[in-house]
Amino acid sequence: MNFTIKDVLIPVEQGYATVDVQLVEGSSEGDRPTSIIEAIAPHLEVIGTAVDGKNKLLLPGFVNAHTHSSEMWQRGAIPPVPLELWLAELYDFAPLEPEQVYLSALGTAVETLLSGGTSVVDHLVLIPGKEIETVAAAVRAYQKIGIRAFIAPLIQDESLTAGIPDGEANREHETYLRSTEATLALMAKVVETFHKPEEGVNILLAPTGIQLCSDALFEGCIELSDRAQLCRHSHLLETAAQKLLAQEKYGCSAVEHLKRIGYLSPRTSLAHCVWLNDDDIAILAETQSTVVHNPLSNLRLGSGIAPILKYLQAGVNVSFGCDGASSNDSQDLLEAIKIGSILHNITDSDYHHWITPRQSVEMASLGGARGLNLADELGSLTVGKKADLVLYDLTNLSLLPRTDPIGLLVLGRPTNAVDSVWVDGKRIVADGKVTTIDVDELQKELFARSQWIDRRQSQTVSQIEAHYRLVMGLPKQHLTP
Ligand SMILES: [Zn+2]
Repeated sequence: MNFTIKDVLIPVEQGYATVDVQLVEGSSEGDRPTSIIEAIAPHLEVIGTAVDGKNKLLLPGFVNAHTHSSEMWQRGAIPPVPLELWLAELYDFAPLEPEQVYLSALGTAVETLLSGGTSVVDHLVLIPGKEIETVAAAVRAYQKIGIRAFIAPLIQDESLTAGIPDGEANREHETYLRSTEATLALMAKVVETFHKPEEGVNILLAPTGIQLCSDALFEGCIELSDRAQLCRHSHLLETAAQKLLAQEKYGCSAVEHLKRIGYLSPRTSLAHCVWLNDDDIAILAETQSTVVHNPLSNLRLGSGIAPILKYLQAGVNVSFGCDGASSNDSQDLLEAIKIGSILHNITDSDYHHWITPRQSVEMASLGGARGLNLADELGSLTVGKKADLVLYDLTNLSLLPRTDPIGLLVLGRPTNAVDSVWVDGKRIVADGKVTTIDVDELQKELFARSQWIDRRQSQTVSQIEAHYRLVMGLPKQHLTP
């Protein structure tokens, strides 16, 4: 596990420097050895294997800080509709076999690694009746490929229709398939069985959001997460409908409510955060919560533009996520970082507030680590931190001619630019290829287990669309065909 990257370009305060980076085996925690950055300087002696870093750029690995891996099975399939209708269709056709979860977790990991990520936060949709098997399948996939995994089993205790505001309707909702108590007991078991940070697998407590969760579920998650200092992860105010719903449910903003029940903390990361007001933003800053920005999903579902520049100005930590592959519809982290950075230039004419490429890289790496309470161990090229590293090939056509490597990496369209990836010092991508799994075999499996999707009819969408349009003030006609 000892190695030295020779003559590699790294960003420094004033531009770039060519250095050597020594990585040595760190204090071994549990089964998996880990490598630590020992020294960064020019002309170091080679410890262990020498890796040629010439004409390559070394950066800390990014965090894909919010995704749902099993959505891969439906990417490209769902028509352009807003979240509430999109979700109904997604769940009507969700995969039901743990083996599918295994394959889509591998696919998600491959695309994350090849776009600069070394960690993935999988807000994992659980197959009803096979919840433990679902988590086990994702754990098996992430351990096999070697990406650092943060598995956040997606839980709720209210049924889907409860996620749409009532308006005047006073609707009744079906009881959710599992009780709050049973869900919390399930999560206690998942934590006990699978939370093994020393083996690269972390479990998060992840109630999906205020739209489908009771206070009892949130409070149970707070207790479970506090017991073992685990992180919490939820969606927050992704759509205008959810903002309306929060008012109906609590008579105040969702953020005020979550603060009141003690859910917000430095260990809490919140996906989307599109519909927050200035008071809400101040609360996120005060509680040191993290915002996970998923720009492609927000555009794809018409959710809105998250006020990211305001978060940054208020001192809120922000990281990037791809969100699930049915609302993106890919897992290219560099694409999410690019759009998630330049999108905000149209929201503020003061260009001094705009996000620079170096800032984007820091949000994606250190911001991601901070959101997982691991800023001491991950997220920057710092002596003493773990070797979660990505090496980019600067001779690749998409990064030529030679200008500003980070500028081009963020603002350009890098294709096949990742040369190597290390997680915990283990090289899991070399020469642009994943070394730990057979990607050709994965492609064959994904092909064999899927089919071209023609038109399909979602039962649930037909049931809820008229009410959705009514409560959102849309004209009655034009139901989705
Ligand atoms: Zn999501």
